[in-house]
Amino acid sequence: MSKQTPQLPMNRENPPSDVIVIGGGIVGMSTAWQLAKEGLSVTILERGRCGQEASWAGAGVLQCGNWHRRDPLVVLLRESLRRYDAFTAELREQTGIDPEFIHCGSFELLFEDQQYRMAASEVRAAESYRETYGRAVLELLPPEEARKIEPNISAEILGVKANSVNCQIRNPLLVAAVKTACLAAKVRIVEDCSVREILRDGDKVTGVKSDQGTFSGPNVVLAAGSWSSLIEREVGRLVQVYPVRGQIVLLERSPRLFTHIVDRGKCYMVPRLDGRIVVGATEEHETGYDKRNTVEGLNHLLTLCQKLVPALAGVPVVRTWAGLRPGTPDRGPYIGAVPGWRGLWSATGHFRSGLILAPITGQIMADLIIRGQTPWDISRLAPGREITKGKPMVEDPSGA
Ligand SMILES: Cc1cc2nc3c(=O)[nH]c(=O)nc-3n(C[C@H](O)[C@H](O)[C@H](O)COP(=O)(O)OP(=O)(O)OC[C@H]3O[C@@H](n4cnc5c(N)ncnc54)[C@H](O)[C@@H]3O)c2cc1C
Repeated sequence: MSKQTPQLPMNRENPPSDVIVIGGGIVGMSTAWQLAKEGLSVTILERGRCGQEASWAGAGVLQCGNWHRRDPLVVLLRESLRRYDAFTAELREQTGIDPEFIHCGSFELLFEDQQYRMAASEVRAAESYRETYGRAVLELLPPEEARKIEPNISAEILGVKANSVNCQIRNPLLVAAVKTACLAAKVRIVEDCSVREILRDGDKVTGVKSDQGTFSGPNVVLAAGSWSSLIEREVGRLVQVYPVRGQIVLLERSPRLFTHIVDRGKCYMVPRLDGRIVVGATEEHETGYDKRNTVEGLNHLLTLCQKLVPALAGVPVVRTWAGLRPGTPDRGPYIGAVPGWRGLWSATGHFRSGLILAPITGQIMADLIIRGQTPWDISRLAPGREITKGKPMVEDPSGA
């Protein structure tokens, strides 16, 4: 690929690369790592420090969607999760950093009849995956049985939907590992470098203009998370990403109160290996780029977590934070070529599932940029697709 790179005017300050990645979050770095492993020269331009935005703030739940779903996006979620063992093993080996990928499973607590009926129907749908996974992926447990496994969950439940596939990852360690792996693979990382403009000659992308000068290259990957629509107005119409705030509470180490992820609706608790518990997360669509915690947001999380596991009432809070998920009007990511901008590739809008989707997104980007096609069905994720506001691409886009 390097040899085929068209000769672009050399910029005095910055040498050209085959691919420029805008944004050093988990999506941009996973993409850069994959491209570099396949022999391309790659530069990441990151406005702040790599992996300090949504990819740091996330809770680290890796879950792969409602088992009624069979759409192409859920196929990507499941494939990406399937790759996580190898992905994290390679990271550990290359960098010495263990991102704490754990097959912990999850317990969804069911309090109401309707929740119970929906869970029972999903358990039936999930039966068809038993052979693929070599075990039941979902089971409906009666309260006594569930509380034998997790004695600290609420006694008020009607039952538990136990998921044996869901996993967790310690995402601050994951981003540190991927950054280190990128550097080892000779990815050039330029931090404190905000991209201001994407440069074109006719419809062909030639590089970007940043506050550290011009970077030239025939391929640019847009992976700027919640900020992806702000760089170029025209691109912003094709790739419509906006920030969705999520607030998180971290609870102090306590005697292991539970080992599964415990969740109900959009509230979940992740029991980390160090004994601390991550409680997340709110989903706020109208708060713009404001990353502060609010009384209402924290109150919502703390009330729910006590309802799910009453023994948490006395556990100290260590800290709270909020991050900005890259949301889209139909809740699906934008993965693919940007029409009218030859050489511009979109890898953004991963909303609640960017951590889980990172390995497959990197793979798809490498497929498209190096091989010109991917075996994965990304037709519904295309930039510029028609979007009906308020009509989600899938009923339950999953994620955390
Ligand atoms: C509270 C919360 C909980 C979550 N929990 C989970 C979870 O459990 N599981 C899961 O799979 N997902 C989860 N997510 C979602 C997940 O974190 C995101 O989908 C994912 O991190 C998106 O990665 P990204 O690389 O696209 O974005 P980011 O991590 O936001 O990275 C984008 C990067 O681009 C940079 N940038 C922006 N503009 C420019 C510019 N002009 N020039 C240069 N750089 C620029 C930014 O500084 C940033 O570093 C959660 C998110 C939040 C907020």
